[in-house]
Amino acid sequence: MWFRNDLRTSDNLGLSAAVATGLPVRALYVLDDADSGPRPPGAAARWKLHGALTALEARLADLNIPLILRRGGGAETVGRVIHELDARCVFWSRRYEPAAVAIDRSLKAALAASGVDVKSYPGSLLIEPFALTTGSGGYYKVFTPFCKAAREAAGGHAAQPLPPPPPAPAWTLPPPASDDLNDWDLLPARPDWAGGLREAWDHGEVAAQSRLRAFLDDGFAGYAGGRNQLNGRFGSALSPALRFGEISPRQLQFAAAAHAGQAGGALDSDFECFERELYWRDFCNHLLFHAPDLAGKNFQSRFDAFPWRASKADFAAWRRGRTGYPIVDAAMRQLWTTGWMHNRARMITASFLTKHLAIDWRQGEAWFWDTLVDADVASNPANWQWTAGSGADAAPYFRIFNPMTQGEKFDADGAYVRRWVPELAGLPDRHIHAPWTAPAAVLEAAGVTLGVTYPEPIVDHKAARARALAGFAATRDASD
Ligand SMILES: Cc1cc2nc3c(=O)[nH]c(=O)nc-3n(C[C@H](O)[C@H](O)[C@H](O)COP(=O)(O)OP(=O)(O)OC[C@H]3O[C@@H](n4cnc5c(N)ncnc54)[C@H](O)[C@@H]3O)c2cc1C
Repeated sequence: MWFRNDLRTSDNLGLSAAVATGLPVRALYVLDDADSGPRPPGAAARWKLHGALTALEARLADLNIPLILRRGGGAETVGRVIHELDARCVFWSRRYEPAAVAIDRSLKAALAASGVDVKSYPGSLLIEPFALTTGSGGYYKVFTPFCKAAREAAGGHAAQPLPPPPPAPAWTLPPPASDDLNDWDLLPARPDWAGGLREAWDHGEVAAQSRLRAFLDDGFAGYAGGRNQLNGRFGSALSPALRFGEISPRQLQFAAAAHAGQAGGALDSDFECFERELYWRDFCNHLLFHAPDLAGKNFQSRFDAFPWRASKADFAAWRRGRTGYPIVDAAMRQLWTTGWMHNRARMITASFLTKHLAIDWRQGEAWFWDTLVDADVASNPANWQWTAGSGADAAPYFRIFNPMTQGEKFDADGAYVRRWVPELAGLPDRHIHAPWTAPAAVLEAAGVTLGVTYPEPIVDHKAARARALAGFAATRDASD
């Protein structure tokens, strides 16, 4: 069983099928971090991968399935291990990143030619990207009809996930060589910047299941209305576990449907909204599958004409959470410390970078790629393009978030800003999202000196908005 983005034993169709053969099973994970294949994980995701693999190895040991770790190009390395094991059959869960699809296809053909059977299964999405086509035979570029078609295909039914398989027969042969996970340098050493990540995240399928239960007990009722609130109460925070397959989307869908089912209709809108987010994730994969260079190329080519600015200083201020806009700075510091950010905060910061600072979305996408524990090859670029306006079904270009209004709406009591930007904690609520509007005496009483203890805004909101709209006008001209 070649594990990839499915680091769990439950609801893993390939693993269950492998065990069902009645033969001894070995598990393989290959770290392919060359630049030429699938996109190599960023630093925070590598940290998460270390934890996920450690947890998986322990679960597999209970099933008599030793985990072999190897590093190298996916196809050659897998081929070599299959040869060493004299394996007759290889199982895996399908991937949808075009570079990975190409590897899997050619490996499958090569193995078949040498008499090795390959069995592949779905597992990381509710609906596979190639399962849906529009009326004209193309792929979906707009989310709402995609979601409708996906729901219709499922027939309003949340499929029951599989339990973990029973133990496989024990091996009598010694295991083939495996790398030592610690030699892969997935964890940062000097400096060790992962302290905040360790505090925020746990690993493995057992932890993911308990996070899911905690979310259903407290955070699901009210999700539809409250999910945009930055206090974090109404979200599952399961994106890192989903990214590495420590939990499957259908485990989420099924558990949420069952939970809502017991509430006699009271939680139906929360379920509908939560399931919709899972379909957004599928939609991002649908786009990536059909538009391979999602992280590199504007989905709408007219955005090639956007006059992006090259400002190292502004980009650094954004990354460090020193823009002078408290809601943006709080979010960027949350990202740096915990490797994660609330969805609303991702939209606010991505909008700020691309619209207020007019910095190319690809720069922001790359920063998120390196710093998010859930950095995902489909969801990250698709959402960046959506926010920047260049994406499929993108937010309209004139939708330029006002960071002050966003703060007042989604962090009304300022608790999020106070937590991540403690130097502003003493400001009263009415000035917490715009410290420059506070009278001098109020600033002084709060211990805030703008430009000294906290930056002045690096850009003026009104001027930035006008500049962004002018930039968008250039893209409109390009399409005429
Ligand atoms: C600029 C930007 C970049 C993003 N980059 C990523 C990324 O690299 N990886 C990632 O998993 N998500 C990404 N997202 C989507 C979203 O922000 C996160 O999935 C969400 O914040 C995770 O929180 P949660 O688990 O509490 O979500 P919940 O509200 O509990 O939702 C359940 C699950 O649905 C999926 N989901 C929710 N919203 C979205 C969405 N907009 N797009 C795709 N899937 C979604 C996630 O897997 C999430 O765990 C990005 C969003 C933006 C605006």
